Amino acid sequence: MKLFEFQGKELFKQYGIDIPNGAVVERKEELDDINIPFPWVMKAQVLVGGRGKAGGIKFANDLEEAKKIFDELMAMEIKGEKVRRVLVEEKLSIEKEYYLSFFLDRSSRQYLMMFSYEGGVDIESMAEKIIKVYINPLIGLQPYHLRRLPKEVRNIASNLFKLFVEKDCELAEINPLAIADGKAIAADSKIIIDNNAIYRHPELPKEDAELTPLEREAKEKNIAFVQLDGNIGVIANGAGLTMATLDALNEFNGKGGVFLDLGGTDDPEKVKQAFELMAKANPKVILLNLFGGITKCDTVAKGIIEFMEKHKLGCPVVARIKGMNEEKAREMLKDYVIPVESFKEAAKKASELGRD
Ligand code: GDP
Ligand code: MN
Repeated sequence: MKLFEFQGKELFKQYGIDIPNGAVVERKEELDDINIPFPWVMKAQVLVGGRGKAGGIKFANDLEEAKKIFDELMAMEIKGEKVRRVLVEEKLSIEKEYYLSFFLDRSSRQYLMMFSYEGGVDIESMAEKIIKVYINPLIGLQPYHLRRLPKEVRNIASNLFKLFVEKDCELAEINPLAIADGKAIAADSKIIIDNNAIYRHPELPKEDAELTPLEREAKEKNIAFVQLDGNIGVIANGAGLTMATLDALNEFNGKGGVFLDLGGTDDPEKVKQAFELMAKANPKVILLNLFGGITKCDTVAKGIIEFMEKHKLGCPVVARIKGMNEEKAREMLKDYVIPVESFKEAAKKASELGRD
Protein backbone atom coordinates (compact mmCIF):
# COMPACT_ATOMS: atom_id res chain seq x y z
CA MET A 1 0.00 0.00 0.00
CA LYS A 2 1.36 3.38 -1.00
CA LEU A 3 0.97 6.35 1.28
CA PHE A 4 0.36 9.86 0.04
CA GLU A 5 3.15 12.38 0.54
CA PHE A 6 1.31 14.09 3.39
CA GLN A 7 0.69 10.77 5.14
CA GLY A 8 4.34 9.79 4.81
CA LYS A 9 5.39 13.16 6.18
CA GLU A 10 3.08 12.66 9.13
CA LEU A 11 5.05 9.50 9.92
CA PHE A 12 8.33 11.38 9.44
CA LYS A 13 7.20 13.84 12.08
CA GLN A 14 6.41 11.02 14.50
CA TYR A 15 9.90 9.66 13.96
CA GLY A 16 11.69 12.95 14.51
CA ILE A 17 12.45 13.65 10.86
CA ASP A 18 12.12 17.36 10.06
CA ILE A 19 9.44 18.29 7.52
CA PRO A 20 8.33 21.71 6.25
CA ASN A 21 5.36 23.42 7.93
CA GLY A 22 2.34 22.43 5.94
CA ALA A 23 -1.39 21.84 5.65
CA VAL A 24 -3.51 19.50 3.55
CA VAL A 25 -6.30 21.27 1.69
CA GLU A 26 -9.40 19.80 0.04
CA ARG A 27 -11.53 22.95 -0.39
CA LYS A 28 -10.38 26.35 -1.60
CA GLU A 29 -11.86 28.21 1.40
CA GLU A 30 -9.45 26.37 3.66
CA LEU A 31 -6.59 28.34 2.12
CA ASP A 32 -7.82 31.45 3.97
CA ASP A 33 -7.01 29.88 7.32
CA ILE A 34 -3.49 28.75 6.58
CA ASN A 35 -0.93 30.36 8.81
CA ILE A 36 2.22 29.85 6.79
CA PRO A 37 4.23 32.80 5.49
CA PHE A 38 4.54 33.14 1.71
CA PRO A 39 6.00 31.97 -0.62
CA TRP A 40 4.23 28.59 -0.57
CA VAL A 41 4.90 25.43 -2.48
CA MET A 42 1.64 23.74 -3.52
CA LYS A 43 1.80 20.04 -4.22
CA ALA A 44 -0.87 17.88 -5.85
CA GLN A 45 -1.34 14.72 -3.76
CA VAL A 46 -1.24 11.67 -6.01
CA LEU A 47 0.33 8.25 -5.68
CA VAL A 48 1.98 8.14 -9.10
CA GLY A 49 5.56 9.29 -9.48
CA GLY A 50 7.00 12.11 -11.59
CA ARG A 51 4.48 14.60 -10.31
CA GLY A 52 6.86 17.58 -10.43
CA LYS A 53 7.60 17.03 -14.10
CA ALA A 54 3.88 16.65 -14.83
CA GLY A 55 3.20 20.11 -13.43
CA GLY A 56 1.82 18.96 -10.09
CA ILE A 57 4.09 21.25 -8.03
CA LYS A 58 3.71 25.01 -8.11
CA PHE A 59 4.83 28.04 -6.11
CA ALA A 60 2.57 30.80 -4.88
CA ASN A 61 3.59 34.29 -3.69
CA ASP A 62 0.25 35.43 -2.27
CA LEU A 63 -3.22 34.17 -1.43
CA GLU A 64 -4.76 35.21 -4.72
CA GLU A 65 -2.16 33.31 -6.70
CA ALA A 66 -2.51 30.36 -4.33
CA LYS A 67 -6.24 30.13 -5.04
CA LYS A 68 -5.67 30.17 -8.75
CA ILE A 69 -3.05 27.45 -8.47
CA PHE A 70 -5.32 25.43 -6.21
CA ASP A 71 -8.02 25.35 -8.90
CA GLU A 72 -5.45 24.35 -11.51
CA LEU A 73 -4.04 21.53 -9.43
CA MET A 74 -7.45 20.16 -8.43
CA ALA A 75 -8.49 20.06 -12.09
CA MET A 76 -5.45 17.98 -12.97
CA GLU A 77 -5.28 14.32 -13.69
CA ILE A 78 -1.72 13.04 -13.33
CA LYS A 79 -1.10 9.81 -15.24
CA GLY A 80 -4.79 8.97 -14.94
CA GLU A 81 -5.00 9.81 -11.24
CA LYS A 82 -7.38 12.57 -10.18
CA VAL A 83 -6.07 15.12 -7.70
CA ARG A 84 -8.25 15.24 -4.60
CA ARG A 85 -5.98 17.11 -2.21
CA VAL A 86 -3.24 19.69 -2.26
CA LEU A 87 -0.43 19.90 0.27
CA VAL A 88 0.52 23.50 1.03
CA GLU A 89 3.93 24.08 2.56
CA GLU A 90 6.39 26.85 3.25
CA LYS A 91 8.74 27.03 0.30
CA LEU A 92 12.19 25.94 1.33
CA SER A 93 15.32 27.72 0.14
CA ILE A 94 16.98 24.55 -1.00
CA GLU A 95 20.78 24.58 -1.05
CA LYS A 96 21.32 20.92 -1.91
CA GLU A 97 19.09 18.00 -2.87
CA TYR A 98 20.11 14.54 -1.71
CA TYR A 99 18.41 11.18 -2.14
CA LEU A 100 17.94 8.72 0.73
CA SER A 101 15.96 5.51 0.93
CA PHE A 102 15.61 2.15 2.61
CA PHE A 103 14.36 -0.70 0.52
CA LEU A 104 13.45 -4.32 1.21
CA ASP A 105 15.69 -6.13 -1.25
CA ARG A 106 14.13 -9.55 -1.65
CA SER A 107 16.81 -10.84 -4.01
CA SER A 108 19.61 -10.31 -1.48
CA ARG A 109 17.31 -10.92 1.49
CA GLN A 110 18.63 -7.79 3.10
CA TYR A 111 17.67 -4.20 3.62
CA LEU A 112 19.28 -1.83 1.19
CA MET A 113 20.12 1.75 2.08
CA MET A 114 20.63 4.02 -0.91
CA PHE A 115 22.05 7.50 -0.87
CA SER A 116 22.95 10.01 -3.55
CA TYR A 117 24.46 13.50 -3.42
CA GLU A 118 22.42 14.29 -6.52
CA GLY A 119 18.80 13.80 -5.49
CA GLY A 120 15.62 15.46 -6.62
CA VAL A 121 15.56 13.56 -9.90
CA ASP A 122 14.32 10.06 -10.73
CA ILE A 123 16.36 7.32 -9.16
CA GLU A 124 16.85 5.77 -12.61
CA SER A 125 18.74 8.81 -13.83
CA MET A 126 21.29 8.67 -11.03
CA ALA A 127 22.03 4.97 -11.23
CA GLU A 128 25.80 5.27 -11.25
CA LYS A 129 26.16 7.76 -8.48
CA ILE A 130 24.25 5.90 -5.83
CA ILE A 131 25.89 4.73 -2.64
CA LYS A 132 24.41 1.32 -1.83
CA VAL A 133 24.75 -0.17 1.61
CA TYR A 134 23.30 -3.59 2.37
CA ILE A 135 22.06 -4.11 5.90
CA ASN A 136 21.67 -7.53 7.44
CA PRO A 137 18.18 -7.49 8.96
CA LEU A 138 19.33 -9.47 11.99
CA ILE A 139 22.00 -6.89 12.79
CA GLY A 140 20.15 -3.77 11.73
CA LEU A 141 21.53 -0.35 10.96
CA GLN A 142 24.95 0.17 12.58
CA PRO A 143 27.15 3.26 13.02
CA TYR A 144 29.56 1.96 10.36
CA HIS A 145 26.69 1.96 7.84
CA LEU A 146 25.85 5.52 8.73
CA ARG A 147 29.44 6.68 8.32
CA ARG A 148 29.02 6.11 4.59
CA LEU A 149 26.69 9.13 4.59
CA PRO A 150 27.47 12.83 5.06
CA LYS A 151 27.25 13.90 8.71
CA GLU A 152 24.21 16.12 8.29
CA VAL A 153 21.92 13.26 7.20
CA ARG A 154 22.99 10.49 9.59
CA ASN A 155 20.41 11.32 12.19
CA ILE A 156 17.60 11.35 9.61
CA ALA A 157 18.85 8.06 8.17
CA SER A 158 18.74 6.40 11.55
CA ASN A 159 15.20 7.69 12.21
CA LEU A 160 14.05 6.68 8.74
CA PHE A 161 15.43 3.18 9.27
CA LYS A 162 13.46 2.88 12.51
CA LEU A 163 10.28 3.92 10.71
CA PHE A 164 11.05 1.56 7.83
CA VAL A 165 11.34 -1.47 10.13
CA GLU A 166 8.60 -0.63 12.61
CA LYS A 167 6.01 0.16 9.93
CA ASP A 168 6.89 -2.91 7.81
CA CYS A 169 7.81 -0.86 4.76
CA GLU A 170 8.87 -2.16 1.39
CA LEU A 171 10.23 1.29 0.65
CA ALA A 172 10.82 4.45 2.65
CA GLU A 173 12.25 7.18 0.45
CA ILE A 174 13.09 10.86 0.88
CA ASN A 175 13.71 12.50 -2.48
CA PRO A 176 14.77 15.21 -2.27
CA LEU A 177 16.28 15.17 1.18
CA ALA A 178 16.85 18.90 1.13
CA ILE A 179 19.51 20.93 2.85
CA ALA A 180 17.89 24.26 3.68
CA ASP A 181 19.30 26.82 6.12
CA GLY A 182 22.09 24.37 6.80
CA LYS A 183 19.68 21.69 8.02
CA ALA A 184 18.46 18.45 6.49
CA ILE A 185 14.70 18.35 5.92
CA ALA A 186 12.40 15.94 4.07
CA ALA A 187 10.94 17.82 1.11
CA ASP A 188 9.09 14.78 -0.22
CA SER A 189 8.08 11.32 1.00
CA LYS A 190 7.41 8.02 -0.65
CA ILE A 191 6.35 5.12 1.56
CA ILE A 192 5.14 1.70 0.53
CA ILE A 193 3.85 -0.59 3.27
CA ASP A 194 4.06 -4.35 2.77
CA ASN A 195 0.43 -5.40 2.18
CA ASN A 196 0.99 -8.60 4.12
CA ALA A 197 1.75 -6.59 7.23
CA ILE A 198 -1.05 -4.05 7.08
CA TYR A 199 -3.08 -5.98 9.64
CA ARG A 200 -0.37 -5.17 12.17
CA HIS A 201 -0.89 -1.45 11.69
CA PRO A 202 -4.37 -0.29 12.63
CA GLU A 203 -2.77 3.12 13.22
CA LEU A 204 -2.01 3.63 9.53
CA PRO A 205 -4.50 5.33 7.21
CA LYS A 206 -7.00 2.74 6.02
CA GLU A 207 -8.05 4.37 2.81
CA ASP A 208 -6.50 2.37 0.03
CA ALA A 209 -6.34 4.93 -2.73
CA GLU A 210 -5.05 2.40 -5.21
CA LEU A 211 -8.46 0.75 -5.37
CA THR A 212 -11.15 1.90 -7.81
CA PRO A 213 -14.50 2.89 -6.24
CA LEU A 214 -16.00 -0.47 -7.28
CA GLU A 215 -13.04 -2.38 -5.89
CA ARG A 216 -13.47 -0.52 -2.62
CA GLU A 217 -17.17 -1.45 -2.54
CA ALA A 218 -16.24 -5.07 -3.22
CA LYS A 219 -13.70 -5.08 -0.43
CA GLU A 220 -16.33 -3.91 2.04
CA LYS A 221 -18.54 -6.80 0.91
CA ASN A 222 -15.64 -9.21 1.14
CA ILE A 223 -15.70 -10.08 -2.55
CA ALA A 224 -12.44 -10.61 -4.45
CA PHE A 225 -12.86 -8.17 -7.31
CA VAL A 226 -10.19 -6.60 -9.52
CA GLN A 227 -10.84 -4.23 -12.41
CA LEU A 228 -8.68 -4.72 -15.49
CA ASP A 229 -8.61 -2.91 -18.79
CA GLY A 230 -10.58 -5.35 -20.98
CA ASN A 231 -14.34 -5.70 -21.46
CA ILE A 232 -15.13 -9.27 -20.41
CA GLY A 233 -16.29 -9.73 -16.85
CA VAL A 234 -15.06 -13.03 -15.47
CA ILE A 235 -16.85 -14.69 -12.57
CA ALA A 236 -15.43 -17.97 -11.39
CA ASN A 237 -14.95 -19.79 -8.14
CA GLY A 238 -11.47 -19.89 -6.74
CA ALA A 239 -8.65 -17.48 -7.58
CA GLY A 240 -6.86 -20.17 -9.58
CA LEU A 241 -9.82 -20.91 -11.84
CA THR A 242 -10.53 -17.20 -12.25
CA MET A 243 -6.96 -16.53 -13.36
CA ALA A 244 -6.96 -19.55 -15.64
CA THR A 245 -10.14 -18.20 -17.21
CA LEU A 246 -8.47 -14.86 -17.89
CA ASP A 247 -5.56 -16.71 -19.47
CA ALA A 248 -7.93 -18.76 -21.61
CA LEU A 249 -9.56 -15.57 -22.88
CA ASN A 250 -6.13 -14.35 -23.86
CA GLU A 251 -5.74 -17.40 -26.09
CA PHE A 252 -8.72 -16.19 -28.12
CA ASN A 253 -7.66 -12.52 -28.02
CA GLY A 254 -10.34 -11.73 -25.48
CA LYS A 255 -9.54 -9.25 -22.74
CA GLY A 256 -10.68 -9.72 -19.19
CA GLY A 257 -12.19 -6.55 -17.74
CA VAL A 258 -13.04 -7.80 -14.28
CA PHE A 259 -11.68 -10.58 -12.13
CA LEU A 260 -14.36 -11.73 -9.72
CA ASP A 261 -13.67 -14.73 -7.56
CA LEU A 262 -16.75 -16.14 -5.85
CA GLY A 263 -14.49 -18.20 -3.61
CA GLY A 264 -16.08 -21.21 -2.01
CA THR A 265 -19.44 -19.55 -1.61
CA ASP A 266 -22.73 -20.72 -3.01
CA ASP A 267 -24.74 -18.42 -0.77
CA PRO A 268 -27.32 -16.98 -3.20
CA GLU A 269 -27.15 -13.60 -1.45
CA LYS A 270 -23.37 -13.37 -2.05
CA VAL A 271 -23.80 -14.46 -5.65
CA LYS A 272 -26.43 -11.77 -6.12
CA GLN A 273 -24.07 -9.15 -4.68
CA ALA A 274 -21.32 -10.36 -6.97
CA PHE A 275 -23.53 -9.92 -10.03
CA GLU A 276 -24.62 -6.49 -8.83
CA LEU A 277 -21.00 -5.38 -8.64
CA MET A 278 -20.20 -6.93 -11.99
CA ALA A 279 -23.15 -5.16 -13.61
CA LYS A 280 -21.87 -1.82 -12.31
CA ALA A 281 -18.53 -2.47 -14.03
CA ASN A 282 -20.43 -2.48 -17.32
CA PRO A 283 -18.75 -5.36 -19.15
CA LYS A 284 -19.62 -6.22 -22.75
CA VAL A 285 -20.12 -9.86 -21.82
CA ILE A 286 -19.91 -11.88 -18.62
CA LEU A 287 -18.19 -15.21 -18.55
CA LEU A 288 -19.34 -17.41 -15.69
CA ASN A 289 -17.00 -20.32 -15.17
CA LEU A 290 -18.30 -22.45 -12.36
CA PHE A 291 -16.72 -25.56 -11.03
CA GLY A 292 -18.83 -26.97 -8.25
CA GLY A 293 -16.79 -28.94 -5.77
CA ILE A 294 -18.03 -27.95 -2.36
CA THR A 295 -19.96 -25.20 -4.08
CA LYS A 296 -23.33 -26.41 -5.33
CA CYS A 297 -24.03 -25.20 -8.86
CA ASP A 298 -27.79 -24.99 -8.29
CA THR A 299 -27.55 -22.66 -5.30
CA VAL A 300 -25.27 -20.39 -7.31
CA ALA A 301 -27.90 -20.50 -10.06
CA LYS A 302 -30.53 -19.46 -7.55
CA GLY A 303 -28.54 -16.29 -6.72
CA ILE A 304 -28.07 -15.49 -10.38
CA ILE A 305 -31.78 -15.81 -11.08
CA GLU A 306 -32.64 -13.64 -8.08
CA PHE A 307 -30.40 -10.95 -9.55
CA MET A 308 -31.65 -11.31 -13.12
CA GLU A 309 -35.29 -11.15 -12.09
CA LYS A 310 -34.76 -7.76 -10.45
CA HIS A 311 -32.22 -6.09 -12.72
CA LYS A 312 -31.80 -5.69 -16.40
CA LEU A 313 -28.35 -6.89 -17.19
CA GLY A 314 -27.11 -5.03 -20.24
CA CYS A 315 -24.96 -7.86 -21.54
CA PRO A 316 -25.04 -11.59 -22.28
CA VAL A 317 -23.75 -14.19 -19.84
CA VAL A 318 -21.77 -17.11 -21.21
CA ALA A 319 -21.94 -19.91 -18.67
CA ARG A 320 -19.89 -23.02 -18.29
CA ILE A 321 -21.17 -24.99 -15.35
CA LYS A 322 -19.52 -28.15 -14.08
CA GLY A 323 -19.60 -30.16 -10.91
CA MET A 324 -22.06 -30.81 -8.15
CA ASN A 325 -25.71 -30.48 -9.33
CA GLU A 326 -24.66 -29.14 -12.72
CA GLU A 327 -27.70 -30.53 -14.60
CA LYS A 328 -30.07 -28.88 -12.19
CA ALA A 329 -28.24 -25.54 -12.47
CA ARG A 330 -28.18 -25.68 -16.26
CA GLU A 331 -31.88 -26.40 -16.35
CA MET A 332 -32.64 -23.48 -14.00
CA LEU A 333 -30.49 -21.05 -16.00
CA LYS A 334 -31.50 -22.07 -19.48
CA ASP A 335 -33.51 -18.91 -20.13
CA TYR A 336 -30.92 -16.60 -18.61
CA VAL A 337 -27.53 -17.55 -20.00
CA ILE A 338 -25.76 -18.82 -23.09
CA PRO A 339 -24.72 -22.35 -22.09
CA VAL A 340 -21.42 -23.81 -23.24
CA GLU A 341 -19.97 -27.25 -22.59
CA SER A 342 -16.23 -26.83 -22.26
CA PHE A 343 -13.84 -24.35 -20.75
CA LYS A 344 -12.31 -23.73 -24.16
CA GLU A 345 -15.64 -23.13 -25.82
CA ALA A 346 -16.56 -20.72 -23.04
CA ALA A 347 -13.41 -18.66 -23.57
CA LYS A 348 -13.91 -18.67 -27.32
CA LYS A 349 -17.56 -17.61 -27.18
CA ALA A 350 -16.94 -14.86 -24.62
CA SER A 351 -13.98 -13.53 -26.62
CA GLU A 352 -16.13 -13.35 -29.75
CA LEU A 353 -18.91 -11.50 -27.95
CA GLY A 354 -16.35 -9.18 -26.39
CA ARG A 355 -15.10 -8.00 -29.75
CA ASP A 356 -16.58 -4.82 -31.12
P1 GDP B 1 7.98 14.68 -7.16
O1 GDP B 1 8.20 15.25 -8.52
O2 GDP B 1 6.64 14.07 -7.03
O3 GDP B 1 9.07 13.77 -6.72
O4 GDP B 1 7.94 15.93 -6.15
P2 GDP B 1 9.00 16.52 -5.11
O5 GDP B 1 8.29 16.84 -3.87
O6 GDP B 1 10.18 15.64 -4.98
O7 GDP B 1 9.43 17.90 -5.78
C1 GDP B 1 10.07 17.94 -7.03
C2 GDP B 1 11.04 19.09 -7.07
O8 GDP B 1 10.38 20.33 -6.80
C3 GDP B 1 12.12 19.00 -5.99
O9 GDP B 1 13.18 18.18 -6.37
C4 GDP B 1 12.52 20.45 -5.86
O10 GDP B 1 13.47 20.79 -6.84
C5 GDP B 1 11.25 21.20 -6.11
N1 GDP B 1 10.68 21.58 -4.81
C6 GDP B 1 9.77 20.90 -4.07
N2 GDP B 1 9.53 21.56 -2.90
C7 GDP B 1 10.30 22.65 -2.92
C8 GDP B 1 10.53 23.73 -2.02
O11 GDP B 1 9.95 23.85 -0.93
N3 GDP B 1 11.42 24.71 -2.39
C9 GDP B 1 12.10 24.65 -3.57
N4 GDP B 1 12.95 25.62 -3.86
N5 GDP B 1 11.91 23.65 -4.45
C10 GDP B 1 11.04 22.67 -4.13
MN1 MN C 1 10.24 13.52 -5.08
